[in-house]
Amino acid sequence: MLQKCEGIVIRSTDYGETNKIVTVYTREFGKIGVMARGAKKPNSRLSAISQIFTYGYFLIQTSTGLGTMQQGEMISSMRTIREDIFKTGYAAYIVDLLDKGVDDKNPNPFLFELLMQTLNYINDDYDNEIITNIFEMKMLNVLGLYPVMDQCAICGNQDGKFAFSIRENGLICHRCFERDPYRISLSQSTLKLLRLFYYFDLSRLGQISVKEETKKELRMIISMYYDEYSGLHLKSKKFLEQIDKFKDMSQFYHCSF
Ligand SMILES: [Zn+2]
Repeated sequence: MLQKCEGIVIRSTDYGETNKIVTVYTREFGKIGVMARGAKKPNSRLSAISQIFTYGYFLIQTSTGLGTMQQGEMISSMRTIREDIFKTGYAAYIVDLLDKGVDDKNPNPFLFELLMQTLNYINDDYDNEIITNIFEMKMLNVLGLYPVMDQCAICGNQDGKFAFSIRENGLICHRCFERDPYRISLSQSTLKLLRLFYYFDLSRLGQISVKEETKKELRMIISMYYDEYSGLHLKSKKFLEQIDKFKDMSQFYHCSF
C-alpha cells in the first residue's frame, strides 16, 4: 500500500552499493524504517531527502518487512544545523535519544511536534544546550520516567528549600534533607529552569538567556539522572561531553568561545 506521511529523517545508513536504509520519525506512524533505493547516488531523486535531519513529506510503499521510500518532498533541509559542527552534534544527540527511546510504529503526534520544534530552534540559532536540556526533560515521560518536580517527593510540601534526590526520584524539601545524604544542592535558577523545562509548552519559548554556571548545573543534574535511570549509553552524547571540556578549557585560558 502507498502511504503519504510527514516526517523527519533520524538515521540514514548506507546499504550496498547504491541504497540507503532510512529511519524516519513520522507524525502518522511514529518511527519507521524504509529502504531508499539508489539514494547513495548523488543524482538520485532520493539523495537529498534521505539525509539525516531532513524534514518533509514522504511517499512510502509499505509491506510486511521494510517499506520502500518512493518519493519525498522537502520542507526543510535544516541547513544551519548541517553547516555547523556543534549544531550537528546537538541535533545528532537529539535524534539518537529519540531513536533509542521509542519503539517502531508507535505513533505519538506530540513527540513528533516536540522533535520538529526542537530541531527548528537549533536550526534558528537558539541556545543549543538549553534546547537540548529541554528536550531531555521532555523525553523523560516518553522513557517511562516521572521525577517529582512540583513538590517534595517525600512529604509533598510545595514550599521551602529544595534539593534534588536521585534516590527519591525528584525534589526533596529541607524538612526531608536528612533522608538523603547524597542529595544534590542546586541554585534557585537551576531549580526554576528544571521545573520549567519539564512542564512548559515548548512552542511558547521566547528568547532565553541562561548564565554559564546555571547551564553547568543543568547539564550535571540531567546527565546524572539519565545515567541512573534511562539505561541509555549514547555515543552521540560523548561528543557533547567533549564540547563541554573544550569550553571549560577555553574559559580557563580566558578565551572567548
Ligand atoms: Zn519534604
